[in-house]
Amino acid sequence: MDYIDSHCHITMDRFDEDRDEILTDYFEKGGLALMSVATCREDHELNLKLMLKWDKLVSSLGWHPHDAKDFGKHEEAFLLNAIQKHQIRAVGEIGLDYHYNFSQRAEQLRAFDRQMAIADKAGLPVVIHTREADRDTMDMLKRHRKVQGILHCYTAGRELMEAGLELDYFVSFSGIITFQKTAVEIRKLLKVVPLDRLLFETDSPYLAPVPFRGKRNDPRKVVHVIEKAAELKTLSPKTLSNQANRNFFQLFPERED
Ligand SMILES: [Zn+2]
Repeated sequence: MDYIDSHCHITMDRFDEDRDEILTDYFEKGGLALMSVATCREDHELNLKLMLKWDKLVSSLGWHPHDAKDFGKHEEAFLLNAIQKHQIRAVGEIGLDYHYNFSQRAEQLRAFDRQMAIADKAGLPVVIHTREADRDTMDMLKRHRKVQGILHCYTAGRELMEAGLELDYFVSFSGIITFQKTAVEIRKLLKVVPLDRLLFETDSPYLAPVPFRGKRNDPRKVVHVIEKAAELKTLSPKTLSNQANRNFFQLFPERED
């Protein structure tokens, strides 16, 4: 089965020991592309190196809501430079996290708004992180309605999801859909997302799907997310995965060169 992990953090130091091994295996076994999400300069520098070796690796860069307080002039210049040099294909992950509030809400809103504007100007998709902030996220997406992208690791409510779909966003589901108790509502949402709007991800090293729950996650395990989703959609994993792959390439067309 061919597959794509549309969101992972393979640059994190938890992969320092075996990153190359994992990526080699991932692409050999059927990975058509991989979205590696950088949330700081160091992640991005590593992504540049990884892209030299794996041309199917697609990179994104953005200041996460947790780090919104650090998104200043220099970070903005760094992001703009990466865009100008065509080093990234998306801005993210960006958004709002009112569960942890590691940055104050005002700072989160400022960094989110600014990065949405940057993505809009650059014509790049965004990768949205949202937690317990449905209303403000919805307002922000509507304020920048020309921008498209991915609602990543979806766990928010139905209203936000529908607003996102209305604005042509894709909805990405993670290993959370395999968690028995916590994911009842999320599985219901997955069932109603149109097939041409669905993506799958690991968000590794976090959120390992059952039967690996609690262990370090890695991009190869996206297969388990797809298998669970296929069961919910009553399709074969291969059919569903092929559809998700087409969706990914609609957002991030393969390059000719
Ligand atoms: Zn992430």
